[in-house]
Amino acid sequence: MNYRHAFHAGNACDVAKHALLVALLQALRMKAKPFRVLDTHAGIGSYVLASAEAERTGEWRAGIGRVADITEGPLADYTGLVRAAGFPDIYPGSPDLARALLRQDDQLVLCELHPEDHATLRSRYRGDSQVAVHRRDAWEAVEALTPFPERRGLVLIDPPFEQPGEFERAAATLARLRHRFRAGIVAAWYPIKHRAPPRAFHTALRDAQVPDCITAELLLREPTDPTRLNGCGLLVANPPHGFAQRAEAILAALLPHLAQGEAGAACSVTRITPE
Ligand code: SAM
Repeated sequence: MNYRHAFHAGNACDVAKHALLVALLQALRMKAKPFRVLDTHAGIGSYVLASAEAERTGEWRAGIGRVADITEGPLADYTGLVRAAGFPDIYPGSPDLARALLRQDDQLVLCELHPEDHATLRSRYRGDSQVAVHRRDAWEAVEALTPFPERRGLVLIDPPFEQPGEFERAAATLARLRHRFRAGIVAAWYPIKHRAPPRAFHTALRDAQVPDCITAELLLREPTDPTRLNGCGLLVANPPHGFAQRAEAILAALLPHLAQGEAGAACSVTRITPE
């Protein structure tokens, strides 16, 4: 396991993922009934931007560094949470963003396999009765920990994409999960380095007839150089009512800040499979 999210926290693709994640969590909060969030690849929960890792890449400067000051419009809820978490010293990961939006009876379950990152995560939420932290393989956990006892909530699947076959694994997991936990929302993040792998991912979901999938994609530039992270997507199965429109507004608000006029920059929300 070579990937450490501390090098990348707050980069442009993290920002897109987290702004959309906040919108999904807010949709869950619209109903009084308790919900659960399962974050299968959790990272360490919160990132110090003055750390050696974050300083070495400086990626956050071209991501959250460009939008954190925004206080109005579709990004305001997300940027407000980031500032409340301690930006510019700290950038919150998906666990901290989810934790901030839990109500009294909601639950958060975190899985992280890297031994050091798991230890950091576990100590971060020690004593928090609403958060459970597992050192557990994400792909195994997603089978074991769903459906949720609350019968509603969100599974966030956010692999590092450092192993071959992670798109295929995500597609197969989504297919099984949709079958077993029809009421759950599933969000799976993916990188766009070049166009072929995400297209194959969408085709796999169509072939498996995974119902009601949309995808929200942000392209920072034309994806012609596959050695670069040129954009990202968030595949959402069983999206909440109105989420597609909200996602369009969020990505359109991010695009001019994150892409800054690069050729081929674009954003889109596309239906992949029918309801
Ligand atoms: N979701 C986090 C966020 O948005 O703040 C970032 C997660 S990072 C992209 C992916 C994480 O998955 C890394 O911390 C890595 O150690 C962990 N990981 C990799 N393979 C895993 C596996 N099979 N099971 C659980 N965690 C895994």
